[in-house]
Amino acid sequence: MKRTELGTLGEFGLIDHLTKGKNTQNPSTIKGIGDDAAVIKTGDKMTLISTDLLVEGIHFDMMYTPLKHLGYKAIVVNLSDIYAMNGTPKQVTVSLAISNRFSVEALEELYEGMYTACKVYGVDLVGGDTTSSLTGLVISVTAIGEAGEDQIVYRNTAKEGDLICASGDMGGAYLGLQILEREKQVYMANPDMQPQIEDKNHLVHRLLKPEARKDIIEQFAKAGFKPTAMIDVSDGLASDLMHICHQSNLGAFVEEANVPIHEQTYMTAIDFRIDPITCALSGGEDYELLFTVDPKNLDQVKYMNDVYIMGEMVAKEDGIQLHTKQGKRHDIIAQGWNHFKKEE
Ligand code: ADP
Ligand code: MG
Repeated sequence: MKRTELGTLGEFGLIDHLTKGKNTQNPSTIKGIGDDAAVIKTGDKMTLISTDLLVEGIHFDMMYTPLKHLGYKAIVVNLSDIYAMNGTPKQVTVSLAISNRFSVEALEELYEGMYTACKVYGVDLVGGDTTSSLTGLVISVTAIGEAGEDQIVYRNTAKEGDLICASGDMGGAYLGLQILEREKQVYMANPDMQPQIEDKNHLVHRLLKPEARKDIIEQFAKAGFKPTAMIDVSDGLASDLMHICHQSNLGAFVEEANVPIHEQTYMTAIDFRIDPITCALSGGEDYELLFTVDPKNLDQVKYMNDVYIMGEMVAKEDGIQLHTKQGKRHDIIAQGWNHFKKEE
């Protein structure tokens, strides 16, 4: 039998390969695979559903991930996908595969973090499943949300000329990870060394305890408009912008000078000899919202708190490009997180 390696398809290629050509059967299934959350019609309202999986050793390292933070993050990353549809999360289910390395007290910590996130975001933990694992901790969370039918924002509905906007702070989580990995190496070489992360608090926080941008969705409602397309930045700004571009059949033009980058991100990137814009474009796990706005709403979006206008959607033929601070144009390439790296 023929054997094809996963790496030849890449993560998105694999999902596409396995599900392409399969139609949904129920009229209530409004949106299946392909967006931040599935959309299901339930009476007058729409139900939104999104699932994420966190695997020890792949998504988190127990050496520097406090369980309370991990629990908080596991909930937040799922809520982020519901907000990315302009919806409101209401419930979550939590499934665990646990190795016997973990004690009851350790799992109490994990749940304390989960329940804290539930309280902060106003959602209920309503069920799940528990089993054992031979290799480590696996956490699967499903978030369920709701939205009015004409409130929902998809990835494939951006229009040429729309403004490209993002909520603040790109690339911080990626550098947080680099810092913790560096300190882990130092610690393993010499366990007496104390970690040096005081001036990197913001970055470490971005990685270990991210927040979902509930506040941005609330600002849309208050300002009385909605974006034309939206996605949350989990794989990296470049990769997630490409999802909007490909699905909307458009190109994009982004001004480097307008990409929101925190001062600590900027300084630390230089320390690591990485271009800060590379961190902002390719670092993942920011959980910010990336969205496009009809220019007729410029006056509303301009005054939104912590929202930055970075560029404009253009015709597909014009490509997906970055206009650098030096006045040059570069193609934006997605180096985002990809679980089964495609060999170029
Ligand atoms: P996000 O980054 O927003 O969480 P993903 O990139 O994980 O979204 O997934 C993109 C789309 O593919 C979503 O609609 C998701 O439900 C779907 N998907 C992911 N994995 C699978 C799978 N194994 N089978 C079917 N659909 C999947
Ligand atoms: Mg998403």
